[in-house]
Amino acid sequence: MIRSTCPYCGVGCGVLLAPAGESGLIVRGDPDHPANRGRLCSKGTALGETVGRSGRLTTPEIHGRPADWDQALSLIATRFRQTIAAYGPESVALYLSGQMLTEDYYVANKLMKGFIGSANVDTNSRLCMASTVAGHVRAFGADTVPGIYDDLEEADLVVLVGSNLAWCHPVLWQRIEAARATRGTKIVVIDPRRSVTAGAADLHLPIAPGADVALFNRLLAALADRGFLTGGVTGLEAAVQSARADSGETGLAPADLARFLDLWCRTEKVVTVFSQGVNQSSSGTDKVNAILNCHLATGRIGHPGMGPFSVTGQPNAMGGREVGGLANQLACHLSLENPAHRAAVAQFWQAPRMAERPGLKAVDLFRAVGDGRVKALWVIHTNPAVTLPEADAVRAAIAACEFVAVSDVTGATDTARLAHVLLPAAAWAEKSGTVTNSDRTISRQRAVLAPPGAARPDWWMLAGVAQRMGFDGFDWSGPAAIFREHAALSGIAGALGRDFDISGKAAISDADYDRMEPFRWPSTAVRQGGRFFGDGQYYTPDGRPRMIAVTSTPPQAALTPEHPFRLNTGRIRDQWHTMTRTGQAPRLNQHLGEPFVEVHPSDALRSGLSPWSLAEVRSTSGNAVLRVVVTDRVRPRQIFAPLHWTGETAPTGRIDAVVSAVTDPLSGQPESKAAAVSLRPW
Ligand code: SF4
Repeated sequence: MIRSTCPYCGVGCGVLLAPAGESGLIVRGDPDHPANRGRLCSKGTALGETVGRSGRLTTPEIHGRPADWDQALSLIATRFRQTIAAYGPESVALYLSGQMLTEDYYVANKLMKGFIGSANVDTNSRLCMASTVAGHVRAFGADTVPGIYDDLEEADLVVLVGSNLAWCHPVLWQRIEAARATRGTKIVVIDPRRSVTAGAADLHLPIAPGADVALFNRLLAALADRGFLTGGVTGLEAAVQSARADSGETGLAPADLARFLDLWCRTEKVVTVFSQGVNQSSSGTDKVNAILNCHLATGRIGHPGMGPFSVTGQPNAMGGREVGGLANQLACHLSLENPAHRAAVAQFWQAPRMAERPGLKAVDLFRAVGDGRVKALWVIHTNPAVTLPEADAVRAAIAACEFVAVSDVTGATDTARLAHVLLPAAAWAEKSGTVTNSDRTISRQRAVLAPPGAARPDWWMLAGVAQRMGFDGFDWSGPAAIFREHAALSGIAGALGRDFDISGKAAISDADYDRMEPFRWPSTAVRQGGRFFGDGQYYTPDGRPRMIAVTSTPPQAALTPEHPFRLNTGRIRDQWHTMTRTGQAPRLNQHLGEPFVEVHPSDALRSGLSPWSLAEVRSTSGNAVLRVVVTDRVRPRQIFAPLHWTGETAPTGRIDAVVSAVTDPLSGQPESKAAAVSLRPW
C-alpha cells in the first residue's frame, strides 16, 4: 500500500492507500506514522468512500463554457496583468486554503509577494489559527509550536480550552484517553458548552463566552500568590499586575474555579491545548497570550509533558504558515516588516517586485472585493461565499467583482458558481506534495489515483499563470523541485536566526522525496526531544520570552433585547467544512443528518420552540433556519449551531451568514463563536 496523509484535520494522521477499481480506495491507518500509529477516526476511515468522480470538475471553463488550459490560464494572466497595470498590484488578490499542499502554497506566495508585489494573499487559515500565530510571535518572537504530540501522553494534567478534541481531533483524543488509562492523566475542559469532550473530562468549566483571559489571569495571579513563578521572562511583573487587576467575570462556580486553580498550580506536567474557542475571538490574541503567560511564568514549556499547545483545524495550516501563507507573513517564518528579511527573500527569488507591507487579511480582503479596491480575485480550494462571516455580503462582493477565478475539485460550490474562470483541480489522493501537522511533522501526501479529465495540481496552475504573466522562476519539474527550493530558502531563514530551517532537505533527490518519511522540523538543529524552548532560547531580540499584560474584554457584539442569545458555532464529529468530500460518504451522513441548533430547555419554552421544530436564527447580518435540538448541553441564553451545511431551503445551514465580521485587531481572526442573535419559531 502507498503511504499518504489524511486530508482533514491538523492531527495529520498517516494513511495507507491502495486503489480499488476505477475510483475506489482502500484506506488503513499507517502504524508507522508518528501522529496516529495506525489509528484513524470516523472521517479518516471513510476516506475511501469519498473519492468518487461524481460531480467532479473535469475541464477548465470560461463563463460556463469548456475551454483548454492555455485559454483559461492565459485569460487569468491577462486579466491580472491588465488590472495591475490600471490599478496597481493591490488590486489583485489570492485567497487560499489550509487544504492546499505546502508546495502549492509556496508557489502562490512567491507569485504574489515576490513578483506581483502585493501581499494580498490570505487563506482560510485566517479563520482557524491566526490568533495563535500573533500570540506566538508576541511571546516567542516567532510562530513556534513549542511541544510535540508525545507531551499529551506524558502530561499529568491536560487542559483543553475551547476545543472539542474528541470530535475535532479524534486521534489526539484517543491518544490522551489511552495515556489516561495507564497514568491517570487528569483532564479539564474549558468550554461554555458541555461538548462530548467536556462530558468525558474530570472537570468541565462552563466558562462564560469570551472569558478565557479572565480565567487565565486568575490562574496567573494564583501562581504568583502561591510562589510558583520562575524568572528569566520579560514582562512578568506587568503581566501579573494586569492579571491581579482583571475584574472580568469567568461565569464559573467558585468551587470549580478553585479546583482548577489548585490542580494547575500543583501539577508540574501540564499541557494546555487550545483551539478555535480561543482563536475565533475579537480578543483571540490576548487569550492565547494569557495561556502562554502561565506556562512562561512557571517554566512549564519545552520539557516533556508540559507546555501550551495549539491544535490547528486544517490539514496544512502549519505548512501554510511555513511558506508565509498569511497576508502578514513572509516565507519561512521571516517577517514582511523586516527589511533584511525582505531583501534576503527578494535576492533568493530574484524577485522584481517584493511586497513591502502586509496585505489584506481575509475579512478585510473581501470587504475590499466588495468596495471595488480588489478587482481581480483567484480563490483556491475554499468556499468563502459560505464560510466567511457575514457570508451573504461576501457572496454579493464576489458576485460583483470584475474578475473571479476559482480552482476546485467541483464547480458546485457557492463560490465556484460565481467564477468567470473555473479550473479543475486534482483532489486528495490524486496529487503529491507535503503537509505539516500541529506538532511540526512534515509528511508526504502521495498520488494513488489519476486525476479525472483535465484536472491538474494547484502548483501547476499557479506556475502556468506566473509564466504567462512573464515571470521567471516558475518552471519547476514537479513538487519535489518546489520542495527543494522551499527547503533552500529555509536555510537562509535559519541563517537569519529564525526557527524554521529544513535546509537539510534542500538537495533531496526526486527519488528520496518520493520515499521521504515523516519528519519533524527543525531537522538541522539539535533540540530537546523535538521541543523548542527547553534550552531557554527564544526568537526575541534579547532571546528571552515575553509575557504580555492582558485584560479581559467581552465579545464585541453586545446582547440586546432584540438579539438576546449568544451563538456558538463549531464542527460535528463526522463532517468536514462544507461537506464537499465527507458528504459523499453515506455512513458519515448518518451521524447528524441535517443542520440544527442546540437550545436550552428554558429558552425553548420561552421562545415557543418544541423539539425538532424549525427555528430561525437571525443577527444583524443574516439568518439561518435550523432544526431545534432541546438540550442542556448549552447554557441558558447560549445556542450552538454547526458550520457545515450550505443549503438554501429549510432547514438551511448557512450559519456564517449569521456570524458578524468583527475581528481581533492583531490577528484579523473573526469572532465566529459569539454573535448576538434572535431565535424564533420558523
Ligand atoms: Fe484524519 Fe484528523 Fe481523523 Fe486523523 S484525526 S483520521 S487527521 S480527521
